[in-house]
Amino acid sequence: MKIIKIQVSKTLQAKIQKGHPWVFDYQIQGQTPAEGHPGDLGIIYSSKNKFLAIGFYDPFSDIRLRILQWGQPLAIDAGFFKDRLQKAVAIRSSLQKQGTSGYRVINGENDGFPGMVLDRYEDTAVLKLYTAAWVPYLDEFLDSLANVLPVQRCVLRLSRNCRQTVEELGSFREGQVLFGPPVDSPVCFRENGLFFEVDVLEGQKTGFFLDQRENRQRIRSLAKNKSVLNVFSYTGGFSVYAFAGGCDSVWEIDSSPQALKTSQEIFSLNFLETRKESENFQQIEGDAFNALKQLQDRKVSFDIVILDPPAFAVKKKQKTNALATYRRLAQSGASLTRPGGLLFAASCSRQVSAEEFFREVFSGIQAAGKYHDEIERTGHAADHPVTFKEAEYLKGIYLKISGKRPNSKSGRDTTTF
Ligand code: SAH
Repeated sequence: MKIIKIQVSKTLQAKIQKGHPWVFDYQIQGQTPAEGHPGDLGIIYSSKNKFLAIGFYDPFSDIRLRILQWGQPLAIDAGFFKDRLQKAVAIRSSLQKQGTSGYRVINGENDGFPGMVLDRYEDTAVLKLYTAAWVPYLDEFLDSLANVLPVQRCVLRLSRNCRQTVEELGSFREGQVLFGPPVDSPVCFRENGLFFEVDVLEGQKTGFFLDQRENRQRIRSLAKNKSVLNVFSYTGGFSVYAFAGGCDSVWEIDSSPQALKTSQEIFSLNFLETRKESENFQQIEGDAFNALKQLQDRKVSFDIVILDPPAFAVKKKQKTNALATYRRLAQSGASLTRPGGLLFAASCSRQVSAEEFFREVFSGIQAAGKYHDEIERTGHAADHPVTFKEAEYLKGIYLKISGKRPNSKSGRDTTTF
């Protein structure tokens, strides 16, 4: 492995000293390293030639250097990875006791594994890479994994950005089973005592949105006797929790027929005998924006409306549209929420800050001619620690919606929280 010296500005040096983990290609100063390969090690020294940090170099990624170690040099070897993995596993050890066997074990940079996510679904681990720099280290990492985490299988998923580079390097490919038996059926796991299944080969991200676990649990606690609209329902995570919490009905909206089918299967895994619930479980397949409009035209309303869409702004240039879309969604969501009902709105767009998102949600509610009382703001579940600003992406807000000004005496709410 080659060692490459990386020069950066004093401003960036100061940021790195405080723990910032990335150097973008345009931030490299002086001579650009000519012949770097993914996984070469890049070292940053201060202007006074003091070691600042060492990390993975990747000439095919805009993030040219992902820092592994700050302050003092350490060998980047099997022991290094094993120590960090043990720490990451220990932090999550209480989850099993809570009936959760599906959770994030490694949250990238935030757990000291830049450009890598590791999700566990019971006996199956899914390793997702965001940089080809991991390729030369993967065998060592997998040895540690097999020692530290009691899983029988590990599946490799590659992000769109690094897939081609990783596959061209020759040893690994998207969907490869790195160890353990082949995947010939959905993988089952539990979350807060509820049963789920996941398609680890084709599902979005690593197959499931583990980051919403705590929000799902909250919906469960609020759902008793309520009617619930779950927009962008994917495989029905929020729906299952709502049923488990004793809701009267759930309507799901999603454009993916496969996701809706899986949601039905997951429903049956949890509520096999309860007919009442299946009668009150409806699915609308199609575009959420059209479906919401149709529901408004039909003058349908719900006690709880959940808006958990895909990321609308992955790139900076998508931000303006994303903000307008969040506003429009909140407007529809608030229109469909019964007076006194609850609107839960979430955003996973990295380019949109929490404040910006909440502002659009408030503005959408106002455009619907409704008022709100804020109940709570939330973020990632605890197994998704965040150690630097750019890693914050998930924000959620719980709002009580009313057709009258909060605290006004007139009018009557039909739902209470
Ligand atoms: N709330 C889900 C995760 C949502 S992921 C959970 O807790 O698991 C985003 C979902 O939005 C995906 O299932 C995707 O199929 C769906 N989707 C994307 N664009 C859509 C659109 N325009 N209309 C309806 N669904 C859409």
